[in-house]
Amino acid sequence: LDKISSISLAVQRAKEAFLSGRTRPLEFRLQQLHALQVMITEKATEIATALKQDINRNEIKLATEKLREWAAPRPAEKNLLTISDEVYIQPEPLGVVLIIGAWNYPWALTLVPLIGAIAAGNAAVVKPSELSECSSLLLRALLPRYLDKDLYPVVTGGAPETQELLRLRFDHVFYTGSSTVGKVVMEAAAHHLTPVTLELGGKSPCYIDKNCDIRVACRRITWGKFVNCGQTCIAPDYILCEPCIQGRVVECIRQTLLEFYGADPKCSPDYGRIINQRHFNRIMGLMEGYTPVVGGQSDSSQRYIAPTVLKDVPAHSRLMQDEIFGPVLPIVTVSDMDDAINFINEREKPLALYIFCSDKKVRRNHLKVGLKVCSTSSCLSYNGFFSSCFSKAIKKMIEETTSGGVMVNDVMMHYALVSLPFGGVGKIFHSVLWCGREVAA
Ligand code: NAD
Repeated sequence: LDKISSISLAVQRAKEAFLSGRTRPLEFRLQQLHALQVMITEKATEIATALKQDINRNEIKLATEKLREWAAPRPAEKNLLTISDEVYIQPEPLGVVLIIGAWNYPWALTLVPLIGAIAAGNAAVVKPSELSECSSLLLRALLPRYLDKDLYPVVTGGAPETQELLRLRFDHVFYTGSSTVGKVVMEAAAHHLTPVTLELGGKSPCYIDKNCDIRVACRRITWGKFVNCGQTCIAPDYILCEPCIQGRVVECIRQTLLEFYGADPKCSPDYGRIINQRHFNRIMGLMEGYTPVVGGQSDSSQRYIAPTVLKDVPAHSRLMQDEIFGPVLPIVTVSDMDDAINFINEREKPLALYIFCSDKKVRRNHLKVGLKVCSTSSCLSYNGFFSSCFSKAIKKMIEETTSGGVMVNDVMMHYALVSLPFGGVGKIFHSVLWCGREVAA
C-alpha cells in the first residue's frame, strides 16, 4: 500500500472501531488510560532518550479520577412547562478526532490531547511533527503495543501527509503549531464544517515593576526564556519595565545566564539549539540592526544562537510584531504600569502574561497562579482567588488586560497545574474535546 492509501485506511479503521461502540463504556476508557500510563512508565528511558526531556503524567491521573464525574449526566434547570419532565445534559464522545502536534514538546503536545480524547470516548488519529523525528517514530511503534490497535493510529510525515489527513472528514481537529499552518488547518476543517481547537503561538509579555525583587524576577524570566532555547509557546517573549530599572534588569539577567550556562553557553550541556535552518535564519533576521547588550553570538553550522538580550527596543519594531520563539529577549521601556497596560492592550491578546510586582501579601515570593475568565473560553472563574490574594496594583493589571493565562511573580508554572485550564484567547483560541447534548425527556 502506498502512504496515501494507508493513511485513509487507518482513518477508516478508526472510524469503524469508533462506530463499533467500544469506546462508550467508561471501563474501556479507564483501561486505555491505564495502558497509556503503563507505556509511559515502561518506556520512560526510551522516551527520555528520544526527547531528552520528561513528560507530564498528571493528566492521566486527573482524567482517571474525574472520568465518572465528567461523563455523568448533568441535571438542567426546568421551567413551569417542563416541571414534570426529566431534563439533563449528557456529555458524549464526538467521534474520530485528529490530533496534529508540533515538534517543540513532541510527547506532551500529542499525548495530553490524546488523554482527553480517550477519556471522552473518542477514536483519535495522532499526527506528530516530522521535525521531532525520533519521538514520532517511537510514538508510532509504542502506541499500538499498548492501546487498542484500530482506535488510535499514529500517522507520521510532514505537510503532504497532514494535508492528506485534512482532506478526510473528522469530528474534531486539535492542532498545535504556528498560526500560518493553523489557518491551513482551519480552512480544511471548514470544508467539512469540522470544529477545531487551535493551540497557536503569540507574544507573552513580562512586566517588571520597579518595586519588585528584580533579582528574583530576572532569575525566573531567564529560566523561562532560555530553557529549550526559547522554543516554548508560553516562554516570556519580551520585558516591559521603566527606564530607571532597565540597567539592573540587564545585569541580573547577565549574572543569571553566567550561573545557568557558564561563560560560553555553546559548551553548556543545558543549552539547546534551534530546531532547523529556517528558524535559525528567521531569528537571526529579527536581530538585524541591533547591538545586543548580552549575547548575540551565533554559529550557523550548529544552529546555535547565544542567549541574547536587547535593550531600548522600539515599540513598533519588527521584533515586536510576531512571536520570537527563540533565545532573544527584547526590553521595551514604558513610563509606568498604565503605559504597560496600554502597550499590552494595543496588541494581540497574549497567550500568557507575567507580572512581577512586590506584594506584601505574597509572602516569601510565594507562587500565585490564576487563569482569567474570558467570555470566549470554557474556563472557570478564579476571580474570588484573585481578589483575596493580590495587591491593588496586581489586581489592576489582571483586570485591565486580557490573556490566556496570568502568572504573578513567576513564569510558565501555570501549565504544570492540571486543575487550571490551559489555552489562549482571540487568535490563539482553545475549545474542548467534549460535547454536551441537551436531553429533554
Ligand atoms: P511544526 O513545524 O512541527 O508544525 C506543526 C504541525 O503542522 C506538524 O505536525 C507539521 O507536520 C504540520 N504542518 C507543517 N506545515 C504544514 C502545512 N503546510 N500543511 C499542513 N500541515 C503542516 O511546528 P511549528 O508550527 O513550528 O510550531 C511552533 C509553533 O507552535 C509556535 O508558534 C508555538 O508557539 C506554537 N505552539 C503553541 C502551543 C500552545 O499550546 N498554544 C504549544 C506548543 C507550540
